[in-house]
Amino acid sequence: MTDAPDVGELSPPQRTLMGPGPSPVHPRVLKAMSTPLVGHLDPSFVDIMDETQELLRYAFRTDNEWTIPVSGTGSAAMEAAIGNLTEPGDTFLAPTNGYFGDRMAEMARRAGGEVVRVDAPWGEPLDPADVADAFAEHQPDVFGFVHAETSTGAKQTNVPELTDIAHEHDALVIADTVTSLGGVELRVDEWGIDAAYSGPQKCLSCPPGASPLTLNDDAMDKVLSREEDPRSWYLDLSLLEGYWGDERAYHHTAPVSNVYALREALRLVAEEGIEARWERHERVAGALKAGVEAMGLGLNPEDDYWLPSLNAVRVPAGVEDGDVIDYVLDHYDLEIASGLGALEGDVFRIGCMGHGARPENVTLVVAALADAFD
Ligand code: PLP
Repeated sequence: MTDAPDVGELSPPQRTLMGPGPSPVHPRVLKAMSTPLVGHLDPSFVDIMDETQELLRYAFRTDNEWTIPVSGTGSAAMEAAIGNLTEPGDTFLAPTNGYFGDRMAEMARRAGGEVVRVDAPWGEPLDPADVADAFAEHQPDVFGFVHAETSTGAKQTNVPELTDIAHEHDALVIADTVTSLGGVELRVDEWGIDAAYSGPQKCLSCPPGASPLTLNDDAMDKVLSREEDPRSWYLDLSLLEGYWGDERAYHHTAPVSNVYALREALRLVAEEGIEARWERHERVAGALKAGVEAMGLGLNPEDDYWLPSLNAVRVPAGVEDGDVIDYVLDHYDLEIASGLGALEGDVFRIGCMGHGARPENVTLVVAALADAFD
């Protein structure tokens, strides 16, 4: 047996988090996380759950009754959506235009789906005409797309057109809104999205651990009329309904502190107003974009589908991305990230999310980059 490890008190560095997430957590959210726990079935927690659900509906712009935080990171909410809405043998249409579209495809495959793809280059949104062609060719049962591709910094435009195509073919639509919820215009009901999932650690500026998910009645009808149980017990939404629905019965121990944190993060969204928040992200990220462009650096996606919450800045020829990332971390305690997947080495990923989307952070990023390139 080894001796008791001599590990010092926790003392991580103070970073300014301007990468693809987590984003800087608002002090009120950190405070909420340190609030003493109540039991996850305590009568007082039931009110906290109701309030969190109501606040989530506001942020998603939905009236969906089935709106909950899933215990786990964004991938858990993603797998809950995909795994419950895909039955073995269903055809699942997934995009090829980014890292998280690939993850959608992989989760659908593991759920027993027949995966087909609709193509767009990395850094571009799906073209509705291509989606229409894919529907005509494959007649998918479920269509997933990524609203805000964190790997490319491209925003999916024309969402209502995509959902119309899917509904004309009686398919359900799942939207990945991990990097848009609370920071980029998103209207779940108005845009006809049947299910959307997100993560708290991006534009909501909350630690990871309880991840937003919403499903409309059509999606929930499919979940409740499945012939086969979903492959995951933990993420089976028909079982989770017992806890988050009227019964409030034990399924698993909810991450109480994460729910506290999410509730506070969503209270901040409601106080600011969701549309004002979208506008702030666009304005502050616009300053960041202008700053890097003034240095002669270009953004990878076209302006028409630029994603304010994630700025993919092209790495100039002759520059090693890792050197710049290390330099700003060492000299400015500033976190930015490298490209992912097909864009590895080609872009820096600079987040502008939630509590991080503030002018002083933009000033820091621009100053640190200017110094790094000096
Ligand atoms: N989808 C997108 C678009 C993401 O950016 C991420 C994480 O960055 C995920 C899904 C997965 O979320 P998580 O890493 O919290 O599991």
